[in-house]
Amino acid sequence: MLVCARCGTPADGAPPTTWTCSVENGVRQYFCDTCSRENLRAIEGRLDSAWW
Ligand SMILES: [Zn+2]
Repeated sequence: MLVCARCGTPADGAPPTTWTCSVENGVRQYFCDTCSRENLRAIEGRLDSAWW
């Protein structure tokens, strides 16, 4: 079954369009809409921290 890679929320069948799919190390991972937002913030935070 398809679940959110971060919080484990199960998707009913195909991932909803609000979910984000990202490929990390050749593994396809899905993030629910909530985690997608937090994930984007984390990515942006990582980019920001590079400037410190
Ligand atoms: Zn999630």
